[in-house]
Amino acid sequence: MIELTLEELALWLLGVPLLGIGFAVFLAHLNRRGRIRLRKREILTCRVCGHIYKDKSKEVHPLCPECGRANDRGEPRRLG
Ligand SMILES: [Zn+2]
Repeated sequence: MIELTLEELALWLLGVPLLGIGFAVFLAHLNRRGRIRLRKREILTCRVCGHIYKDKSKEVHPLCPECGRANDRGEPRRLG
């Protein structure tokens, strides 16, 4: 049989659920960050005409619906 003092029992009863809650919050944070990153990949800004559009395809360089130019995914970069 495992012998525990009252302090150790209280520590286990409080500590284990708190660790579980902390782990769940951490997983939720990772999940949310991943979803935000996915959404950022879907929103593109055309480097030629500045049109902002959404593209859910898996294409690496989606075409701008306004001018037809292929654009990179991710943060828009400056030309100069
Ligand atoms: Zn364009």
